[in-house]
Amino acid sequence: MKKALLVIDYTVDFVAKDGALTCGKPGIALENYITELTTAFLNEGHFVAMPVDVHELDDPHHPETKQFPPHNIRGTAGRNLYGSLQQLYEARKKDIYWMDKTRFSAFAGTDLELLLRAREIKQLHLVGVCTDICILHTAVDAYNRGFDIVIHEQGVASFDPAGHEWALRHFENTLGATIVR
Ligand code: ZN
Repeated sequence: MKKALLVIDYTVDFVAKDGALTCGKPGIALENYITELTTAFLNEGHFVAMPVDVHELDDPHHPETKQFPPHNIRGTAGRNLYGSLQQLYEARKKDIYWMDKTRFSAFAGTDLELLLRAREIKQLHLVGVCTDICILHTAVDAYNRGFDIVIHEQGVASFDPAGHEWALRHFENTLGATIVR
């Protein structure tokens, strides 16, 4: 079965200690796992996409503007990938599909589904942050589009431990996802 890796929102603003909307320590702890898994997928020739949240500063038309402090603003360093993943991205840029996304789900308003269908990819592996926000919304959309879902427990995290645990149960029990532990 053809598979792809989606590395979701693993950016400085969402992960670093001083990030604008950081999930903190649980996010930082994923760095090695995500970088190693991404390297393995690339070396095996699988499709690797990095859907990354983007905002315009003070965008009056975006629902998140009222909810959250400014984050992942286009052209800022906060939108760089975190730690060793940024180095891997720079080294392997031509093999990695960078995707701007503007909503929690990587499918919302993007060409992700077309890219996956064109490559006949059936199975999606998800890592990144936050488990109960962007990973969750992406997984729900993947489920509704008929993809098989694999969640890497060591590759997802949230600022909210209860939300993280709930989302893992939801992936497994409701979306039929495989959880790699
Ligand atoms: Zn956002």
